[in-house]
Formats: sequence, C-alpha cells, structure tokens
Amino acid sequence: MCPSFMVTREEEHSTRGRANALRAVMTGVLPAAELTSPRMHAVMDLCISCKACKAECPSGVDMARLKLEFQARYHEAHGVGLRSRLFGHAAALNRLGGGWRAPLTRAALGSAAARRRLGITTERPLPTPARQSFAAWWRATGRHGERGEPALVLLIDPFTDALQPEVGVAAVEFFRAAGLGVRPVWADDGRPFLSKGLLPQARRAAERTVAALEPAVAAGLPVVGLEPSSLLTLRDEFLYLLPDDERVAALAAAARTFEEFVAERAAAGELAVRFREQPRRILLHGHCHQKALVGTEPARRALGLLPGAVVEEVDSGCCGMAGSFGYEAEHYVVSMQMAERRLLPAVRAAGAGTLIVAAGISCREQIAHGSGRTALHPAQVLAGAVRNSTQRR
Ligand code: SF4
Repeated sequence: MCPSFMVTREEEHSTRGRANALRAVMTGVLPAAELTSPRMHAVMDLCISCKACKAECPSGVDMARLKLEFQARYHEAHGVGLRSRLFGHAAALNRLGGGWRAPLTRAALGSAAARRRLGITTERPLPTPARQSFAAWWRATGRHGERGEPALVLLIDPFTDALQPEVGVAAVEFFRAAGLGVRPVWADDGRPFLSKGLLPQARRAAERTVAALEPAVAAGLPVVGLEPSSLLTLRDEFLYLLPDDERVAALAAAARTFEEFVAERAAAGELAVRFREQPRRILLHGHCHQKALVGTEPARRALGLLPGAVVEEVDSGCCGMAGSFGYEAEHYVVSMQMAERRLLPAVRAAGAGTLIVAAGISCREQIAHGSGRTALHPAQVLAGAVRNSTQRR
C-alpha cells in the first residue's frame, strides 16, 4: 500500500490519484502546461519512489519511474534548486567531507542557520562521513588479506564507502571466513541523482558504473552489493537509463544483494563457514526496494543460517527516509509518520536482547533517530557470529 496515502489518507497522495493526474494531462483533459505546474508538483511531492506500487499494484503502475520523468520535466521548466543539487551530489560531497575533514563536515552540517536556509530539517542529524572510509581501510589493511583469485566483486557504493565503512569491512571479513576472496569495486550508481530527478547525471553515473564492472562481469564474477537501493538500481533503472547498452543485461544478471548471494551459496552447499550458536531473536526490516524487487526471503534465509536465531520481520512498508526525503524540512513530519505506523513501534517493543537488522543505510538512520536503537546490516550480524566462532575454536 502506498505509504504516503497510508499517512495522509488523501486520494491525491495515492498511486491512483497520481496516475489519474498524470493521465489527465497525457489525454488532454488538462492542458499540457499542467504537467509542470505547482499543483502537479504537490500531487507528486509525497511519492517517495518506494516502488511498492510496482510490486503490488494490479495494473503494474511504476510510479517511481513516472516520478523520475516528472521531476526531470519539472527541472527543465523551473530549474534545479540548490538543495536538490546538493542532495543529488551527496556521493561526491560525502567523499570530499570525510577523512581529516570529517570534524569540519560535522560542524558545517550541524549549523541550524545553514540548514534552514537550505530547507533541511533541524529535527534530525545529517549523516556525516567516517574518519576512515572503506577505501582508506582497504588500502591500509584490507587488501593484505586477499589470497588467490577473487570469488566475487564487492560493490562499494558511495554511502557504504564514506558513511558506514564498517558494513563493508564486515562483509569482507565474512566472505574471507567463508573462503571467498573479494575484489572491491567502487562505483557510484547514481541513486541520489535518480531520487532528485537529475536524469542526465544519473545516466552518466550508470555509464561509468557499467564500464567499471564490465571486466568483472565478463570474467563471470558475481557482483554483490550491500546497499539494496544501490545494487538494485543496476537491475532496475539501468535497464531503461541505458536501453541500447548490451552490457547492462549481463550486469543485471550478475548483480546480487548480499543476502541473495549468501542464501544462494548456502543452499548450494558452497558456504564453508561455521557460526556460533546464537539463540537470539532478530527483528528484520526490509528496504522498500528490496521488498518490491526481490522480497525479503533471501534475507530471512541468510540470517536463518545462524543456529538458534529466530528471525521475525516487521510488516513495515517504507521506513519514511527515502534517500533525502526525510531530511527535507517540509517532509520531516510525514517521514516520521511513515516510520511510526509500524516500524518504530515494533523496534521500541523489541527486547534489549533482540538484534534489529536492516540492510538499508537510510532505514538504519531512521531507526536510530526514531527509537535510539542501533540497527545492523546483515553482513555485520553474520560477520560477528563468525568472528565469535573463530575465537572459540
Ligand atoms: S512509488 Fe511508493 S510512494 Fe510512490 S506512488 Fe508508488 S507506492 Fe506510493
């Protein structure tokens, strides 16, 4: 069910309402100029491109794609605002703001006056780059652990690289413990450009990503991604951003979420890893793109590899962050209302011993902000259990 409709209960904030508004322009019921009018902007504004309608709508409406096209036309008519430019270039800004600049970045992002001028909410903290990126860790430490030929490419998206490198480190440690060598490839899939409707920039990012991954795909290596929205962009948006590029279909076929890859290897008996007995409850929140495109069954199976673990899933829909949406001043309240429908109450009700697990970095940010609980990526959970197992043997 459309998360914005579930919060506002207004027809124009439902998939059907948006589809009808767009159809009215396409069929001439409304003048063509209405397509980029403030009224149409209001109708499309609360669509968070969660892709739920793509999976659930009986008529298969892909409103996320329609919103992308709408935003691109809107930018052509009205120009691109500074906030959209900044959020669209989040990957580069995070990269530039990390390392020794991290304290400066934190100070700049903490400025309430600057945020108000940009239309960024002061109600929640902005994520800030880590002092040591995954790239810096790999150069200093990670690469020395590689032995022999890699079994997979680990796709390092800009957010894992700059904001939560510990997730990438955990994945490397887990795969190595399972006897699988890793070759990291850094690629900006252009997700922030897509979320702000910056189509030309998104297309160029897709071209760079396809080129960066082409040798690995040609060599038959699976491409494994940690951030669901990034990895699944390779299997979804790339297909229509680059319709004439024959390499895209091969890349899409090779691309796997971390959970899919682990579950598939385990089912094939190709995951040589032992876990410590972990009689724990795990509360799983699936990323909305993950739920729409691959479902959460692979995540449940991957986490279910932990002996004694009981995996429960929150029937939660989108967490409400949707990239930059939850950071935008006018969207903050709706973002929290989306999270408060099911996700945050379920997290608060979970006992202190329950592990909260979410593959999406935005989902983890929302959970931390709304409940004070720390959510882990599945790679961190599995790597933690392997590490403990290794110490005990
Ligand atoms: S993409 Fe999500 S928010 Fe947008 S119309 Fe579809 S279900 Fe609603």
